[in-house]
Amino acid sequence: MNELDGRMALVTGAGSGIGRACVHALADAGAKVHVVDIDGSAAERVAAEIGGRAHIADLADPTAVDALPREVDILVNNAGFQHVAPLTEFPPEVFTRVQQVMVTAPFLLMRRVLPHMYEGGYGRIVNISSVHGLRASPFKAAYVAAKHALEGLSKVAALEGAPHGVTSNCVNPGYVDTPLVRDQIRDQAATHGIAESEVVGEVLLRRAAMKELLDPGEVAEAVRWLCGEHARHVTGISLSLDGGWTAA
Ligand code: NAD
Repeated sequence: MNELDGRMALVTGAGSGIGRACVHALADAGAKVHVVDIDGSAAERVAAEIGGRAHIADLADPTAVDALPREVDILVNNAGFQHVAPLTEFPPEVFTRVQQVMVTAPFLLMRRVLPHMYEGGYGRIVNISSVHGLRASPFKAAYVAAKHALEGLSKVAALEGAPHGVTSNCVNPGYVDTPLVRDQIRDQAATHGIAESEVVGEVLLRRAAMKELLDPGEVAEAVRWLCGEHARHVTGISLSLDGGWTAA
């Protein structure tokens, strides 16, 4: 008997990086998984890896969210992307899209799946936030604003879900070795005129005590732990996996 047997999960941004690792961790624990991504071939590939179901959706589009399943016991709000620019040059349309994908879509998905969770007396909402849900960095206005908003949304869901056996938590990684970060390493190396190898320790992880990237599987293990029956009193928290960044 696996701890998540009989549970239905939905993971957004599941075609890559942390989302894909979450799909595997939840499937290994017995859950069936809806694999949601804007990249259809990536979603199909990951769904095939675990015998799950792929859904192609641009989460910036509320009608695409409306087409996703409601009968979900575990919701992992993971889809996201980064844009780095000074506030004075930050494109307003990119700022808006970041909020749509990383704040409005999690809100719409919670709204969609909570009635089923309340009915069953069990639910787990896990929001993949970031160290940037708790701390700011320059040039990441949209991302930092979105992750801070997600922290607040997660706490409201924790309070409303509590009488119904539904928990809501954030997981807050530092830098994780995924395509999202590899793109930033390349860009930062070009901006600062330094080698990509120097970017990790001296730029990205300057404020972290541990100078190495996380593996996506380490984040997924934290997500899986939050979904177990043992974690039913863990709600409204922000679980940092940031190598000591926020301790400093
Ligand atoms: P990734 O780029 O590897 O994966 C993100 C996935 O989201 C991709 O498959 C992409 O297609 C999908 N996606 C993007 N926009 C979408 C949209 N509009 N609709 C549907 N899907 C969309 O990135 P990752 O590093 O695995 O990041 C996943 C989450 O983890 C993000 O929310 C990110 O902010 C967060 N996070 C990442 C790190 C890190 O260092 N990589 C650190 C902290 C938090």
